[in-house]
Amino acid sequence: MMRFSERVAIVTGAGSGIGQATALRLAREGARLVIIDQSEAGLVETEGMLPEGSEVLRRVMDVSDEAQVEAVVADALKQFQRIDVLCNNAGIAGRHPPITDQDRSEWDRILGVNLIGPMLFIKHVAPHMQARRLGAIVNTASVAGIRSGAGGNAYSASKAGVINLTMTAACDLGGDNVRVNAVCPGLVETGMTRPIFEYARANEKAHKLGARAELRRYGAPEEIAAAILFLVSDDASFITGQALAVDGGNTASLNLPGMKV
Ligand code: NAD
Repeated sequence: MMRFSERVAIVTGAGSGIGQATALRLAREGARLVIIDQSEAGLVETEGMLPEGSEVLRRVMDVSDEAQVEAVVADALKQFQRIDVLCNNAGIAGRHPPITDQDRSEWDRILGVNLIGPMLFIKHVAPHMQARRLGAIVNTASVAGIRSGAGGNAYSASKAGVINLTMTAACDLGGDNVRVNAVCPGLVETGMTRPIFEYARANEKAHKLGARAELRRYGAPEEIAAAILFLVSDDASFITGQALAVDGGNTASLNLPGMKV
């Protein structure tokens, strides 16, 4: 399938994990790419994996810095003259201190990257999509934005914010045929979750990874990328303002201890 021929897609957090898998699949389906990350090594790795002949603009930057967001959007338009797809995917996890021991600067840092970053990209990309009356945006939220227990307080609040930003942006932009959706991944093996996976494997707890999902397993970055590609493709042309859990059924169940055989 070449659902993205001629289209230009921005992917943030493209140097690792879900963002890398999304960039690769978009390129395989014909998209021209703007790949963004704070890690140059990650972006170089991603670019090296793209199909030969892929057109790509690579930018090391911090998604929470508005001046940098504005500059990369201007550069993308200069190089490609259009932006059809925006995947707001960069994110950070942070620590898990109890609610009585929260650190204000940690909240600022996490909300800055996970929530303000997507808002800034939508703010600067959407006017070009509105002018063409065509565009699709997907924000990577998390199951942590739907239920507690999948991340620290600041991370979870940031992802709940991303789900709501998705709805409010979809309402603002729907009249101009710009769609905004979110994916809410469950546990996926990526750079972000590497410490969890390494700890479990080193301590004979690997069988517990993903075990509470209804599919009894964790996910692969490619499985989240597949959902992102669906939502930014024309296959999803009547879907906007939605948050799709891609979590092996995790959030479909209370999964009370002792209820499963
Ligand atoms: P990852 O760490 O492998 O990838 C995240 C990428 O974002 C990294 O390459 C990192 O360098 C980049 N990044 C971080 N801060 C940045 C900034 N300020 N500016 C630019 N780039 C920045 O992790 P991942 O799991 O692929 O994460 C992708 C998204 O998926 C995140 O938003 C994360 O919250 C979300 N998510 C992940 C899981 C999971 O289990 N892995 C579950 C739910 C949601």
